[in-house]
Amino acid sequence: MKIDLHIHSALSPCGSDDMTPNNIINMAKICELEMISVCDHNTLAQQAVLAQVANKLELKYVYGVEVQSVEDVHVCGYFQNYNDAQEFDIYLRKHLIPIKNDIHFFGNQLLFDENDEVIGQEDILLIQSTTESINNIAKKIHEYHGIVSLAHVCDKSNSILTQLGFIPPNLEFDMIEIKNDKQKEMVLKMHPWIKDVLWIRNSDAHYLQDIGIYEDDLDEEKWNELWRKYL
Ligand SMILES: [Zn+2]
Ligand SMILES: [Zn+2]
Repeated sequence: MKIDLHIHSALSPCGSDDMTPNNIINMAKICELEMISVCDHNTLAQQAVLAQVANKLELKYVYGVEVQSVEDVHVCGYFQNYNDAQEFDIYLRKHLIPIKNDIHFFGNQLLFDENDEVIGQEDILLIQSTTESINNIAKKIHEYHGIVSLAHVCDKSNSILTQLGFIPPNLEFDMIEIKNDKQKEMVLKMHPWIKDVLWIRNSDAHYLQDIGIYEDDLDEEKWNELWRKYL
């Protein structure tokens, strides 16, 4: 199954204003993706509309979010049930410092309806560290029946390897996001204890043209197995 499970909408300040729900879903269709997830920074406020548009255009959608921990580590959480996603969003909001977004510096944080009309703008800066540790965030995602992915694990900024230097053995996670097999080899060399995880490649697209660049073929058996653990 061709997937891209890490895309940003225009709600992320760093995401292009063209990343509207219909644009994202239509681009995913053009790229012949079969399942996607949009993971905005520290919020799930655009998720209901994204799922609605995906449903209308017959594309599988997984609710997602990219959380920034207090250690500046990016971790993606995925949910199958909207209630779980919503509950997690409430938890997240409580751990977000109410710093106002400076749109001229960070960019817009736009909220859209199902027709791509702007219905609001998030005031609190979304691209900042939450007050929660990566361990607590991972636990909370599981508590709400979600799965945990270590985002862009080898990137030079906001990856667990950059921020902590290693993946702690007591961290509860399910997926590792890589860009190529070389990165997988490197992570395994550093952490020979890692066994039962799903390795995935996602675009982390902030612009329409980047959606689906990896055309990752999901190991569906492994994916379903992961969900059985938490649902
Ligand atoms: Zn990130
Ligand atoms: Zn991202």
